[in-house]
Amino acid sequence: MNDHMIRGTAFNGEVRFFAADTKETVEEARQIHNTSPLCTAALGRMLTAGAMMGTMGKSESDIVTLKIDCDGPVKSITVTADVNANVKGIIYNNNVDLPLRADKHLDVGSGIGKGMLSVIKDLGLKDPYVGQTALRTGEIAEDLTYYFAESEQIPTSVALGVLVDRDRSVKAAGGFIIQLMPFASEETITAIEKKLSEFDSVTNRLDAGDTPELMMKSVLGDIEVEEKIPVRYHCNCSRDRVKKALISIGRKEIESMISEEKSVNLHCDFCNKDYKFTIDELKEILKML
Ligand SMILES: [Zn+2]
Repeated sequence: MNDHMIRGTAFNGEVRFFAADTKETVEEARQIHNTSPLCTAALGRMLTAGAMMGTMGKSESDIVTLKIDCDGPVKSITVTADVNANVKGIIYNNNVDLPLRADKHLDVGSGIGKGMLSVIKDLGLKDPYVGQTALRTGEIAEDLTYYFAESEQIPTSVALGVLVDRDRSVKAAGGFIIQLMPFASEETITAIEKKLSEFDSVTNRLDAGDTPELMMKSVLGDIEVEEKIPVRYHCNCSRDRVKKALISIGRKEIESMISEEKSVNLHCDFCNKDYKFTIDELKEILKML
C-alpha cells in the first residue's frame, strides 16, 4: 500500500501541515460506491480531507465526521475518519454527470451546489463538537478553508485533488492542509502565500511522482516531518456491531420481523457488506433482550 500521509511543522513551528497521497484509498471508494468521475472526485476530496483531519484528534478513540448537505445533484457526502487515518465514506448520489468546466476539470462545484458543511468531532464526551459553515464554492477545499477560518479561527490553506483516468479509475489523489499558528510572523505568511500562488496542483504533482513530502517542501521549504501514517479505506462494521444495532431497535420490532417470517438483511452503506439474520437468529437475539 502506497497511500500515506505526513504531518509536521515548518518555519520553526509557526506552521503545521498535513499532506496525503490517497490514490488507492479513493480508487477503493470508487469501486465500492461505483461512482461516476465527478462523484469520484467529490467523494475522493472529502476522503482525503477526512483522513488528514482525523489525525488531528488527540486520543485513540477520537472520530471526525465531515458532512456536506447540498442542493446540487450529489445531495450529500459523509466521511468518517479516526486518528490513524482509517477513512470511509458515503455519497448519496453516486452517478452525477455534468459537462466539464471551461478549464477541463470535473465540475464538482456544480455537482454540490449550495449547502452546509459540518465537521463533527466525537471526542468521547457526552456531546460531540459540531462546527458548521455554509458552502462557498462546493469545491470542498475552499469550503474547508472557510470552515477552519470561521469555525476554528485558524488561518488555513487546504488543497485537495482527484484525477480520474479515461477508464474511470483514479490516476492520482491527495491533498494538503497548511495551518498558521497564532504567533506566525508576517514574513512567514508572505513567504507561504507566494509559494502557494506558484504551486500548480496537487494532482499534477502527485501524478508526476511527487510524494507528499516533496509537495510540502516545495511550498514550505525546510520541513520537519513528525509522523508518517498509512492511509486506507477501512470500514469497522462487523456482524457483532450490526447485531447490537438490531438489539437496539427493540423487542417489538424484532417480534414483528419473526411473525412476518422474513429473514433480515442489513446493509452497510460505507462498505456495501450485507448482514443476513435468519428467523432462528432473530429468535436467539430476542432471548438476549
Ligand atoms: Zn461496513
